[in-house]
Amino acid sequence: MRSSQFPLNTLKETPTEAEIISHQLMLRAGMIRRLASGLYTWSPLGLRVLRKVEAVVREEMEGIGALELLMPAIQPAELWQESGRWQKYGPELLRVKDRHDREFCVGPTHEEVISDYARRELKSYRQLPICYYQVQTKFRDEIRPRFGVMRAREFIMKDAYSFHADVESLRVTYQAMYDAYTRIFTRLGLKFRAVEADTGSIGGKGSHEFHVLADSGEDAIAYAVNGDYAANVEMAPTFPLKGGRAPATASLTRVATPNAKTIDEVAAFLNAPATKILKTLLVRGKETPVVAIILRGDHELNDIKATKHPLIADPFEFIPPAEAFTHTGANVGSLGPIGLNIPVIADFAAADCADFICGANEDGWHITGVNWGRDLPEPETADLRNAVEGDPAPDGQDKLAIARGIEVGHVFQLGTTYSEKMHCEFLDEHGKPATAIMGCYGIGVSRIVAAAIEQNHDDNGIVWPVPLAPFEVAIVPINGHRAPAVQAEAERLEAELTAQGFNVLLDDRGLRPGVAFADMELIGIPLRIVVSERGLAAGEYETRLRWESENKSIIADQLLAWIG
Ligand code: ATP
Ligand code: MG
Ligand code: MG
Ligand code: MG
Repeated sequence: MRSSQFPLNTLKETPTEAEIISHQLMLRAGMIRRLASGLYTWSPLGLRVLRKVEAVVREEMEGIGALELLMPAIQPAELWQESGRWQKYGPELLRVKDRHDREFCVGPTHEEVISDYARRELKSYRQLPICYYQVQTKFRDEIRPRFGVMRAREFIMKDAYSFHADVESLRVTYQAMYDAYTRIFTRLGLKFRAVEADTGSIGGKGSHEFHVLADSGEDAIAYAVNGDYAANVEMAPTFPLKGGRAPATASLTRVATPNAKTIDEVAAFLNAPATKILKTLLVRGKETPVVAIILRGDHELNDIKATKHPLIADPFEFIPPAEAFTHTGANVGSLGPIGLNIPVIADFAAADCADFICGANEDGWHITGVNWGRDLPEPETADLRNAVEGDPAPDGQDKLAIARGIEVGHVFQLGTTYSEKMHCEFLDEHGKPATAIMGCYGIGVSRIVAAAIEQNHDDNGIVWPVPLAPFEVAIVPINGHRAPAVQAEAERLEAELTAQGFNVLLDDRGLRPGVAFADMELIGIPLRIVVSERGLAAGEYETRLRWESENKSIIADQLLAWIG
C-alpha cells in the first residue's frame, strides 16, 4: 500500500473533546471520525485494525467449533415481549416503529433472536450441544456515551450463544469459551485479567468478565496479590437459592411489570399462587395503598431476573411494628433503598422464607425477589462492593489489590432464563420435550481497539502490538522523488515484503523525513525501514522498532531473516 493512495489524515493537535488517550490517539491518527454522539465512522486505517481483531476472534471461535451466522440488527418487539425484556430493558433500548406502526428495537444483544432461531432449528438432543456466533453491529442508547468507541452507542460485538441438553454440557462449552477468550486476548498482546462477574439473581460462579488493565478503565476489579482470585468490585454476595435463605440485605432483584393489572396477573407472571393479599395498610398512621404477596415454593429468582443490580447498600429500614401495621407475626419494611417508595409487608414469622414481595405504585407492579431468614447460609460469593486495597482475600489465602479494568469480554451461563420463556425446546432421548440450557458470550470487538491503545502508547503515539497493527512495516524512502535508485529500492522492498505476507505501507508522499517519521510513529507501525542513498551505498537499511528508541542498521540481505 502506498500512502499517496491511502489517506493518512493525522492531526497534530489533541482534539479537546477527547478525555482519554485512546480516544485522542484514534482521532489524531485518523482511525475514527465522529458522526454524532456515540456514532463513529471507521476510516480505512482504523478499519484495518478492527478487521485484525475480528480475524483473531473468528479463528478462535472456529477453533472451538462455534458456527458463524448473521442475525438482523432490527428485532421485532414481540420477541422482547416474550422474554419480558421489552419492559425491563429501559431507555438503553432504542425502540422504533415501521410504516405499519409495528414496534421494533435496534438490537443491543441477541438472546431473543437466537432463541427464536434455535427453537425453530433445533429438534432433537442429537443436534446438541451447538454454539452459534456472529460479529455484528449493536446499538445501546448509553446514558453517557464517551471515550470514543470505548463506550459508543453503535459498536461491534462478537456474540455467541450455546444450547445444551444438560448443565454439564454447558459447563464444558463455557470452559472452552473461557479458554478461547484467554487465547484471543493473549494473541492480541493485551494485559488482561478474567474476573468473577456479578450473576445477579442467577447466583454462583456462572459468569466471568475479561478486563484489559488500564487506569482509565471504568470498572474496578479486586484480585488476590499472589493468588488466582479475581472479581469485579460490583460483585454483590450471592447465596444458594434452593433451600437456603439469605439475610435481608442480600440480593434483591426488581422488575416492573406494568402489563400486569391485578394481583392474579402478577401471580400468573410469577407462575405461582399468591398466598397473602393485603389491599391497604396503616403505615405511620397513614392509610397507604399497599399490596403485598408472599409466594412460597421452589422458585428460582432467575425467573424474574432484573436488568441490573438495585442499590441495596443499606439494610432494610424496618418501621417499628407499633407505628405500623400489626398483624400476627408480621413486620412492615420499606423498600426505600431499592427505590420503591412503597411499603411492603413481609410475613417473617409465618413464612420464614419469602421468595417474592410485590407492590404497586403509579408505574405499575413491582416485584422484588427476596431471600431472607434467620439461618443465614454461607454466601457463594463475597461482597466486594466496599472492598479496599489490602483487605483479606475472599478465598482466605491472600490480600486484595484493586485495579482498574476495561470490560472487553463477558461469558455467562444463562441456564434457562430465556429458553424457558421463549419455549426453546428439543426432544430428549426419551422423545420428551425439554428446555434447552443456554450460555452467552460477548466480546467488544470495537472496544478492544481502544483498550489496546490505552495499554500501548507513548508520547509519540500508538505502539501497536504486532497482531493489531494496520501495517506491520513502514518503508520510508528519503528523497525518493529526487533519487530514483532510492525510490526503486523502496518499491522493490515493498513488493518483496508484501510477497512474504507482510502488510506494508510505503510512504511515497515525499515529505520531510521528520514529518513522515512522526506520522508512522503516531499511527503506531511496529517496524520502520528507512531507504536512503547513504544506506544503499553501504548495503544497509536503517530500521527502528516502534517500542525502541534507537535505530538499528541491518545489512540489506539479512533483513528478511531478521524480521522473520
Ligand atoms: P459495560 O459494563 O461496559 O456497559 P456490558 O456489561 O453492558 O458492558 P455486555 O452486555 O456484557 O456489556 O456486552 C458484551 C461486551 O460488549 C462487553 O464486554 C463490552 O466489551 C462490549 N460493550 C458493551 N457496551 C459497549 C459500548 N457501549 N461500546 C462498546 N463496547 C461495548
Ligand atoms: Mg452496559
Ligand atoms: Mg458490564
Ligand atoms: Mg457485561
